[in-house]
Amino acid sequence: MQEPRKLYVKSFGCQMNVYDSQRMADALAKEGYVETQDPADADLVILNTCHIREKAAEKVYSELGRLRKAKQDAGSDTTIAVAGCVAQAEGAEIMKRAPVVDLVVGPQSYHRLPEMLEKVRDGKRVVDTEFPAEDKFDHLPAPSAAATKKRGPTAFVTVQEGCDKFCTFCVVPYTRGAEVSRSVSKIVGEARALVDQGVREITLIGQNVNAFHGEGPDGRTWGLGRLLEELASINGLARLRYTTSHPRDMDDGLIAAHRDLPQLMPYLHLPVQSGSDRILAAMNRKHGRDTYFEIIDKLRAARPDIALSSDFIVGFPGETEADFEDTLDLARRVGFASAYSFKYSIRPGTPAAEHDHQLSEEVKSERLARLHQVLEASKTAFDRACMGRRFDILLEKPGRLPGQLIGRSPYLQSVVVTAPGAGIGDFVTVDITDVGPNSLAGQVVDAVEDRGRTSDRPLVAMEA
Ligand code: SAM
Ligand code: SF4
Repeated sequence: MQEPRKLYVKSFGCQMNVYDSQRMADALAKEGYVETQDPADADLVILNTCHIREKAAEKVYSELGRLRKAKQDAGSDTTIAVAGCVAQAEGAEIMKRAPVVDLVVGPQSYHRLPEMLEKVRDGKRVVDTEFPAEDKFDHLPAPSAAATKKRGPTAFVTVQEGCDKFCTFCVVPYTRGAEVSRSVSKIVGEARALVDQGVREITLIGQNVNAFHGEGPDGRTWGLGRLLEELASINGLARLRYTTSHPRDMDDGLIAAHRDLPQLMPYLHLPVQSGSDRILAAMNRKHGRDTYFEIIDKLRAARPDIALSSDFIVGFPGETEADFEDTLDLARRVGFASAYSFKYSIRPGTPAAEHDHQLSEEVKSERLARLHQVLEASKTAFDRACMGRRFDILLEKPGRLPGQLIGRSPYLQSVVVTAPGAGIGDFVTVDITDVGPNSLAGQVVDAVEDRGRTSDRPLVAMEA
């Protein structure tokens, strides 16, 4: 019997890439590829890349340098493919800069991978960064039961792709194209299949997930709130999440879903980017700081135990010290449970890259450190407030010590437990007994029946 061909996929960047990498692996499984964790052992290496910041894009070229050397040293004929947003943005440039690359494939063309690999086998170098008319989701196969089981009890499902917002700093509208939503029936079908295969928690993903406007089974356009309601009716689907959202698309239907659906976890990633109205306008975010506060008030009224997370950019062109202090003030007032903060990175081709008042690295670094301090303090306060609380934990993987398992709280915190008799994919109720910098520890009280709801006590109140 012929040895199976081996595939190594490395994902950079966001959850969309993690999901796409799995779908590529599913498509190639049909062609006889099995996944390996060792690039040296692979017949095909795919780097699924991220272009969001300069550093992310540069990582790809360092990785390609390493692969070239390994390939030379071993005298192997491994096929090297570059996928994702760097592929989309720099297709031909990659071929020039990195002769080791055999294949460049943009995010909308993954379903064509098998035919592209045929061409590579015929000795060609292939670039496909088209936005084809056909829907890749119609052509990408579903994962096998074995693949889903291996990936664990949580899964991503893409509901929309692309973005029409054109924030002035961001490459996504150029690399991922215009906003497109999948139909409700396809999303629900995919979710049901995952649940039948043992998945207990689904995170709906999209570059702009709450801009979702898919065709419903009634022929009308459904928003994300209505979609979540439909998904919540799937038996066995205990938890729902969605990411990444834009404040402008937090409509009343979606906020009501947080009130009405116990399966929807009380944790929302809602990027704000800046706390300054002047900078928000220059970023073309199309909302001000007060709108952001109003949304958070509504969310907290709908679901008092909700916790927030966010993204921030510091050092956007023209940002003054006063603008930056508005950002610090917003961060303190909201009290985020966690947050990501980035130095503004110039992205060629975006409007902000042409701005005359670019800030120095020094100023950006100094502001990032100050913001980081505020966000860390707020994260620590949130985690400490979890001490002594009772949570349902979905067990996801083994811990470091024998008998230990690691699961996630409703707030996505890692919780380490010793739970004899329980296994991956089970829910347990735990009392939080210890709070560390990267994880919590919990004492198991019971196996859970009533999944999802935490107590309705707000954890970190908004300052007046
Ligand atoms: N769609 C989401 C939104 O509207 O906020 C964000 C998606 S983007 C993939 C993830 C994060 O990368 C953004 O929230 C932003 O904070 C950051 N980001 C995007 N472009 C950036 C840039 N040019 N420099 C630094 N950070 C950037
Ligand atoms: Fe980028 Fe998000 Fe703005 Fe779209 S909404 S342009 S993905 S930051």
